[in-house]
Amino acid sequence: MTPHRGYLATKNTAQIEWGPAFAALDGVARFLLREIEMDQTTLANSVSVSGVGLHTGAEVNLTLRPAPENTGYIFVRTDLDKFEIPASVEYISHCSYATTLVRRGVVLSTCEHLLSALRGSGVDNCFIELDNIEVPILDGSSEDWVELIERAGIAEQDAPRHYLRVKQRVEIEQGDRRMSIEPSDRFEIDCTIDFPHPFINQQKFRFVAENGSYGREIASARTFGFTHEIEMLRKANLALGGSLDNAIVLTDEGMLNETPLRVPDEFVRHKILDIIGDVALVGMPVIGRITAHKSGHAVHAALMSKLLKTPTAWEIV
Ligand SMILES: [Zn+2]
Repeated sequence: MTPHRGYLATKNTAQIEWGPAFAALDGVARFLLREIEMDQTTLANSVSVSGVGLHTGAEVNLTLRPAPENTGYIFVRTDLDKFEIPASVEYISHCSYATTLVRRGVVLSTCEHLLSALRGSGVDNCFIELDNIEVPILDGSSEDWVELIERAGIAEQDAPRHYLRVKQRVEIEQGDRRMSIEPSDRFEIDCTIDFPHPFINQQKFRFVAENGSYGREIASARTFGFTHEIEMLRKANLALGGSLDNAIVLTDEGMLNETPLRVPDEFVRHKILDIIGDVALVGMPVIGRITAHKSGHAVHAALMSKLLKTPTAWEIV
């Protein structure tokens, strides 16, 4: 197994190596031929971290471990006799403020930032062992997860990587929230958010998965919430682990955090971080273009579910 820096880096290297040979082919064919050269990856070593869950406030110890080819991502509840919950669309339970998986009554909450980091770092297979109900929130972005994955190292495996390639446009509309996925020769996201707040209003960002773009543009964007929403969440016993160390907390006119935003459009970048994490529940990397307008976890889940239930809309390559 040869350690390398992941899918995004390898894809770019492959492009340089193979580019001239495929110059005569159209974009999609060139992309696919290039991708066929790629093998699946896992972590080179196990790595551990501890923290609190954003919603439960529960202390949790979590270890990422290498997993065999074709495993995908599997959560392992070490406090419940190693009960396994695969990171799959079929186990999505509720997703109002975070994406929660449930299998046979066993809950795994707030999986999206870690899954986003795994997918964004180009890891295909990983066991995620944890001793509590919720993935730790860390700093509210996926930066610490990406660093942890880099510390573990990424190892290439012996099976080719498969992709879910979108062949036909699929769309979801829930009130003024819209999201679609359509054919493309790569994975890209066009995202717009709209909040009546002086720091946000309308923000747009276009993300294209290519060499290192996830780490550069998306990973450090933190989750955010509004003070009025947080009071409501606390009454519902949610956001119990939330603090200014793991979220941007917005008041009517400003924010409670004393440290500045990391980038002015941190909010829309975080939405893209969430989309990447929720789309990871498809079980393999996707080749397609997502357009999201005022989307949230429920819309992401609905779109993935509709896509998978439309067999003519995709193929595995
Ligand atoms: Zn999030």
